Amino acid sequence: MFPIYDVIVVGAGHAGCEAAQAAAKMGSSVLLCTMNMNTIAQMSCNPAMGGVAKGQIVREIDALGGKSGIISDKSTIQFRMLNRSKGPAMWSPRSQNDRMRFAEEWRLALEATPNLDFWQEMITGLIVKDGRIKGVKTGLGIEIRSKSVVLTNGTFLNGIIHIGEKKMGGGRTGESASKGITEDLIEIGFESGRMKTGTPPRVDGRSLNYSLMEVQEGDENPEKFSYSDETTPIKNQRNCWITYTNKEVHETLETGFDRSPMFNGRIQGLGPRYCPSIEDKINRFAERERHQIFVEPEGWNTVEIYVNGFSTSLPEDVQYKAIRKIQGFENAKMFRPGYAIEYDFFPPTQLKLTLETKLVENLYFAGQINGTTGYEEAAAQGLMAGINAHNKVKEKEPFILKRSEAYIAVLIDDLINKGTEEPYRMFTSRAEFRLLLRQDNADLRLTPYGYKLGLANEKEYLQTLAKAEKTEELTKKLEKFRLSPDEANIGLEGLNTALIKEKITVEKLLKRPNIGLQDIINISDLLKEETIEYSNAVKEQTEILIKYKSYIDKERQMVEKISSMEDLQIPATIEYANMKALSAEGRQKLAKIQPQTVGQASRISGVSPADMSILTIYLGR
Ligand code: FAD
Repeated sequence: MFPIYDVIVVGAGHAGCEAAQAAAKMGSSVLLCTMNMNTIAQMSCNPAMGGVAKGQIVREIDALGGKSGIISDKSTIQFRMLNRSKGPAMWSPRSQNDRMRFAEEWRLALEATPNLDFWQEMITGLIVKDGRIKGVKTGLGIEIRSKSVVLTNGTFLNGIIHIGEKKMGGGRTGESASKGITEDLIEIGFESGRMKTGTPPRVDGRSLNYSLMEVQEGDENPEKFSYSDETTPIKNQRNCWITYTNKEVHETLETGFDRSPMFNGRIQGLGPRYCPSIEDKINRFAERERHQIFVEPEGWNTVEIYVNGFSTSLPEDVQYKAIRKIQGFENAKMFRPGYAIEYDFFPPTQLKLTLETKLVENLYFAGQINGTTGYEEAAAQGLMAGINAHNKVKEKEPFILKRSEAYIAVLIDDLINKGTEEPYRMFTSRAEFRLLLRQDNADLRLTPYGYKLGLANEKEYLQTLAKAEKTEELTKKLEKFRLSPDEANIGLEGLNTALIKEKITVEKLLKRPNIGLQDIINISDLLKEETIEYSNAVKEQTEILIKYKSYIDKERQMVEKISSMEDLQIPATIEYANMKALSAEGRQKLAKIQPQTVGQASRISGVSPADMSILTIYLGR
């Protein structure tokens, strides 16, 4: 019934969809096995993509030839560039999405992908022989053979859902938990752990009084995620709203604390610290009288509303009473209660940089199974696992990005070297070279790789090359183009702080704070003419590179300095046990993680600078 596939992907969440799409597009025969084909690319929690550091990841996925950016654009109902008032390293695209359309667009994209087959069933076991994956076993007892397997089970592995004192097995509400895979992996020798996450109640938008809330509109000139021409920015957007909890809401919630699975010890797994439940917020920040609630529509054609900021696993009657005390929610009708879910994950230190497991050859893990949280983090890992599973099966080189090249690399490098004890999400602060890893230049950083891999198409590649060329050309123009002092002083009044006394180049003007390229173009018809041929993306890129040149150069120099050692390979045969000069902790961590390069070794927590110098001396440096 089934051929021997190159790659089987288990799970069709954000990681699974990207993995299957990438491997199939690159030319592998792929089977995507998922429990329920009606929930492909389901957004389990909030209907939104991107945000701080996560928006950069979506752009990186897009630049490499993944689909999350395009799917997000096609299902956007509101778009905002967050942190515009800060430096460009912080600018972060975020879209509010139509939940149903997001899933539908993913399914359409997968169905249009050649080499990709589907099978709806629960995978209950793995076929492993001589330390190598050979395929999967299904609930019906079918054995499906493959050369590699990518596991992307999300929150489903032995999932337990909690609402107050009620507890039921499930991977998401209304969906069964996955059984069998954890047990197989533990038998092989994998370590597993337990984490938890939660989601807020959904309410009927017709029952809310929006006039009592603050409106939150999308950007006036919205952008989009994808660099490709396949999508266009959204024209008409839906509003979101902001309201707040208050003392009465908190007091009502507190009446359910004795029945809370979080507080009475029934939930053992660690949850995301930065995305706490409302009961957690009240408990931890007792001094705060209110917490912000974002009121977010679930789509174009539905009245369902996502109550962002009100994640809870308190009993449903307490949720209902408390939510009706929020301003604007006085008559709220609830569609679905909030809940918490506990699930198995596998500490990601058991993986190589390709996301292949160290214990079983050709077996890959991606997404929430690795202890991460978030669609973007999952999608990025799925894409990388899909690429690497394909490359391994086709005997090609592994595809590994450097921390100075992508947030995706920071994510994977952190996971496999440091592991994670609580759900890992990306922050800009995790990237030491964040000025190089901007949302505006992910195409310049990564599309050449995507093209070489066979994921990004030729048109996208040529567009990227043209963007780089045009940016260079415009930079040279702006270095030469001069304005008279009068023109500059009068035209930039209010923006410019220091008086200009002689002719000045646009490049010099741009280095002054508060002055943007468009401000300068607005005062000179000649400059307008000279720059009219350049796209907004090229103008933005040029402006950032000029304005932040000294900082960017500094980061680049740092990258060069580090990379001379970074790539130094550590032989797989190295015996850390014999290196007595290493600290006990350093020796133990190095032996456990088996880093492939000196750079990787240097980032393992517990490996000190002194250990690093011993290691480099040992390696002859
Ligand atoms: P998932 O999206 O969970 O997809 C897993 C897929 O695998 C599903 O298609 C499932 O059907 C399939 N599957 C599982 N086991 C099997 C099997 N044995 N056989 C066949 N198919 C299988 N993220 C945040 O960033 N912030 C939050 O506040 C947040 N809250 C959340 C609250 C809840 C209740 C849940 C469930 C998730 C929440 N998330 C949150 C996490 C977010 O949904 C995930 O990070 C993201 O969806 C993970 O993607 P994934 O592809 O790894 O797994």
